[in-house]
Amino acid sequence: MSNIITALDFNSAKAALAFAETVDPSLSKMKVGKELFTYAGPQVVRDLVGMGFDVFLDLKFHDIPNTVAGAIKAANDLGVWMVNVHASGGSAMMDAAVAANKDAGGDTLLIAVTILTSMTDQDVAAIGYAKNAAQQAEHLASLAASSGMDGVVCSPHEVPLVKSAASTITTKFLTVTPGVRPGALNSADDQRRTMTPVEAINNGSDYLVIGRPITQASNPNDTLTSILNDIRAAA
Ligand code: C5P
Repeated sequence: MSNIITALDFNSAKAALAFAETVDPSLSKMKVGKELFTYAGPQVVRDLVGMGFDVFLDLKFHDIPNTVAGAIKAANDLGVWMVNVHASGGSAMMDAAVAANKDAGGDTLLIAVTILTSMTDQDVAAIGYAKNAAQQAEHLASLAASSGMDGVVCSPHEVPLVKSAASTITTKFLTVTPGVRPGALNSADDQRRTMTPVEAINNGSDYLVIGRPITQASNPNDTLTSILNDIRAAA
């Protein structure tokens, strides 16, 4: 199966599903984030699962342990392949998420967000953290691994740091990386410090989140196939 996750950043179920209809589910998984979910609700997730897609429900839960546990059960009931929480919700919250996931069958991958990659060291200091952004991301990745989370979302540049932080706790810790731009011809849009898919995979990324270069392509299957071929050729 593909290790590309297409970000479905659309503002209606109709637009998201019309795009998804053009994509072969063996070439990409689909990410439903806060925008699409808030417009379209859980039915769009069920529809995508019904079309044969692995769905990453990117709602970044951050709440009291009992509430997050309930949300993780709900994500399992929707049949999603991956769901995430904020690691800064703490160990008790992540422990509750892991326990709820196990109770629900445990097939859904549980991923933590450490420090949002949009945040600078100044932003991190301003919310009162003593560590800089990279140190805080490393610390939260260790905390996530200790709770038994399956991995983290991070910048492709942070993958080696995250893998080494988690390595004393587990040998299997996934990294899911946005900020990926295929080839020199693609615009970086509002992303900073991007990597190409091949660079990100060579740096250790397990799954690549790519949005606009795929959703705005004239033929998404061709774009996906070309990225997957580049990755295979470099392996
Ligand atoms: O279109 P683009 O490839 O920039 O989309 C990237 C996707 O990954 C968007 O859905 C964005 O919200 C998400 N994301 C990100 N950076 C993060 C976390 C999530 O770009 N740190």
